Amino acid sequence: MLFRVLIFLAVLLAGAIVGLALGGQWGAALGVIAASFTWFIADLLRGLRVERWLRRIDAGGDEGRFPAMSGLWGEIAERARRALRASDLRTVGAQTRLDEFLAAIQASPNGVTLLDAQGRIEWCNQTSADHLGFDAQRDAMQRVVNLVRDPGFVAYVQGSDHARDVVIPGRGSTPMSPRKVSVQLHAYGEGRRLLLSRDVTALEQAETMRRDFVANVSHEIRTPLTVLTGFVETLQNLPLDEAERARYLGLMSAQAHRMQALVSDLLVLSRLEGSPPPLVQEWTPARALLAGCEQEARGLCAALRKSQDLRFEADADLSVAVETLEWSGAMSNLVANAIRYTPNGGSIEVRWRVVYGGRAEFSVRDTGEGIAPEHVPRLTERFYRVDRSRSRETGGTGLGLAIVKHVAQRHGGELRIDSVVGVGSTFTLCLPATRVHTQVSAPVVDASTPTPAA
Ligand code: ADP
Repeated sequence: MLFRVLIFLAVLLAGAIVGLALGGQWGAALGVIAASFTWFIADLLRGLRVERWLRRIDAGGDEGRFPAMSGLWGEIAERARRALRASDLRTVGAQTRLDEFLAAIQASPNGVTLLDAQGRIEWCNQTSADHLGFDAQRDAMQRVVNLVRDPGFVAYVQGSDHARDVVIPGRGSTPMSPRKVSVQLHAYGEGRRLLLSRDVTALEQAETMRRDFVANVSHEIRTPLTVLTGFVETLQNLPLDEAERARYLGLMSAQAHRMQALVSDLLVLSRLEGSPPPLVQEWTPARALLAGCEQEARGLCAALRKSQDLRFEADADLSVAVETLEWSGAMSNLVANAIRYTPNGGSIEVRWRVVYGGRAEFSVRDTGEGIAPEHVPRLTERFYRVDRSRSRETGGTGLGLAIVKHVAQRHGGELRIDSVVGVGSTFTLCLPATRVHTQVSAPVVDASTPTPAA
């Protein structure tokens, strides 16, 4: 600053000297005025250059034409440039952090929508758009209640109690395939609100299944228990002769067995659900599995006084890597169903064979009553029966096919059901190629060795 004052004084002095030389005392005074005016104009022009440069930057232009100059204005321009650069760096850093933050929210499996004090959408992530049917760009600054018109949602947003969430139908929900979304509002900032959404379709389905399952189990157990209690009371209160007593005790025993079968199937299911998939380590010849199954089937036929044509056949060189107890149980279940649902004189064909791609199939084909197409997809649901009384009559629990499907899936395979009413049904258990061995050198086990069933 002192330097600038000195220069200014030097300019005035130079003007005075030149004026003095040219016009004496008055010339010196005019020289000082001319010098200060020149100084003022030069200073003004330099200041204007800096001001124009700052104005251009302020208008969003680049700082390309920096007014390089010395002196105070140069110093001001240089300092302004440095301050701008530092501010730019801070802005870029903040923008990067904001972008990363938004990218993290975008990646969230939960929907996030930011609402302003008027309930308008300021920003939402893609998940939220997907849950609630927004278009992240098009719907910005739209009132959320104009976009999501579910009455429960509108009442929730307009109400004051947001301590709990509310479950509403999600985008694309139909009565056939309902989609449920849980939404909850959280206040933040000045009157702003955060709307969090979560797809709870699977959770709701699991909860419905759990409720249905408990209701079904209770119902299945209550029926034989009621019958049993009735018989016990009859035995206690009525003077019955020996033949009647024996008949009642026989009926009671049948009900007790029914409950036993149900509990045993429930235990099998819970064991299957709670254990890891079987490893591929031990190879069992398909013929050995089939032999055990055949022995059981013939025993069941005799017990049920059924007379069907039973045929059992397996590829000689086929070995499979299965959890034998589980798999044999599933095989026996399918064969038992075929025996139960095929009238006398019908035929049942049981086969183990290798199919295309190195996979193997265990199939049970019967010439029974068959199943109408609308029932087929539901047969593997727990407690689903085509004919409830018929199933009970034949000692069924309604859990058999659910268990079989579970066993197949645990082995990486599947259960296929083909059926034609009046013609018969084929139930096929498929095993993936990784669990199939077809070398003739596979160990051959005595076909009469019984294999335990689940
Ligand atoms: P259940 O213990 O009642 O037999 P499952 O789960 O084993 O239960 O079978 C479910 C239903 O599938 C049965 O109630 C029956 O209606 C039908 N079903 C199963 N196997 C056959 C078959 N081979 N032929 C006709 N219907 C069958």
